[in-house]
Amino acid sequence: MVLAQRLAEQGRLTQEEYAHLIRLRTDESSMYLAGKADHIRREIYGRDVYIRGLIEISNICRNDCYYCGIRRSNTGCERYRLTKQQILGCCREGYDLGFRTFVMQGGEGSYSAGEIADIVGAVKETYPDCAVTLSLGEYTRGEYKIMRSAGADRYLLRHETADREHYRKLHPFGMSYENRMRCLYDLRELGYQVGCGFMVGSPYQTAESLAEDLKFIEEFSPDMCGIGPFIPQRDTPFWDMPAGSGEMTIFLLSVIRLIKPNILLPATTALGTVMHNGREQGIHAGANVIMPNLSPLSERKKYSLYDNKICTGEESAQSIRILKEHMRSIGYQIVTARGDIKKP
Ligand code: SAM
Repeated sequence: MVLAQRLAEQGRLTQEEYAHLIRLRTDESSMYLAGKADHIRREIYGRDVYIRGLIEISNICRNDCYYCGIRRSNTGCERYRLTKQQILGCCREGYDLGFRTFVMQGGEGSYSAGEIADIVGAVKETYPDCAVTLSLGEYTRGEYKIMRSAGADRYLLRHETADREHYRKLHPFGMSYENRMRCLYDLRELGYQVGCGFMVGSPYQTAESLAEDLKFIEEFSPDMCGIGPFIPQRDTPFWDMPAGSGEMTIFLLSVIRLIKPNILLPATTALGTVMHNGREQGIHAGANVIMPNLSPLSERKKYSLYDNKICTGEESAQSIRILKEHMRSIGYQIVTARGDIKKP
């Protein structure tokens, strides 16, 4: 508890201390940090929970990450790629449901920077009061610039792990930790609000590598951070690896909130998949964003990053009324707003 208390007071620990904190996690330290994280979040964001309409625009990917169900080598994955009109249709539906941020996520290399810029431009022209977040993987600085000039506001690019050795165990030759990091710094310099993040319990992850992730978050100071448990997918090389823990994910949400009090922190679909009421528990522990699914129902099952992904139920944008009720019942409120980061 000494380390948990120190984190709550100072908002940071040494790398060794983070590793200890993680290794020695107990229900008691989790509850303690969740209370502190919730408190500090309420001081900045009150009871507000921001929603983002997640549009999974394509599952075509040039990469072959060992953990991911839409990896290039997965021949069992039925591929799709939404058209600009389909994406605009999702936005229309989302706008009517109260969404003011659209997150376009997809496999890497499925669209050129010019195509993305064209789509972003159309969304921003139709919905000038909305923010557009991209989560489309690694591009060159010049390509990110084209997308930014078209109006993209934010970019989510999980760094996946801040431990170089670990990075190599999760990704094949040709993908590099250095390029992933280069992308994050380029995005920042181009004026995007930037999100990094990682999976909790990914194969070969240790308390030490998680401690490196936390140190990276301290140093990079992202606007957003997406974390969720690793969940195996049956057609990947990691099909028989154990899933990450929901409890550890929730614990780390609290830790990240305390490191960076104003961060935008989603309670992810993966958390809701491994744990009953996982997203609600995540919000209680310091998360303040939920990303319901706005993708066309016909394609939703095909964006299968991992097995048993919650789909067509309460995670979907169409069930926003139920989500609002749930949030109200646990003391929070979903708001219709762009939900930008509040500067301290
Ligand atoms: N291609 C983009 C990129 O690389 O950032 C965005 C899409 S990628 C599928 C989105 C995220 O899904 C990844 O950053 C990864 O952390 C997460 N993911 C992939 N496979 C997963 C799995 N088996 N379990 C949990 N999360 C997974």
